[in-house]
Amino acid sequence: MKNDDHIVVDYDNNKIDNICEECKNEDETVKQNLIMHSYKICNSCNLSKRIFPL
Ligand SMILES: [Zn+2]
Repeated sequence: MKNDDHIVVDYDNNKIDNICEECKNEDETVKQNLIMHSYKICNSCNLSKRIFPL
């Protein structure tokens, strides 16, 4: 699954890495989730958080 890149934000993408703070893996979805949800996590971690909230 891949989201469309229709989101326009003021973030400087060059300053944001794609390292997930949960699993420490690099994933392009990390940046998207940071912008959309303010969580610097990948989709797989985001999904697990939704299912099993801390
Ligand atoms: Zn992750």
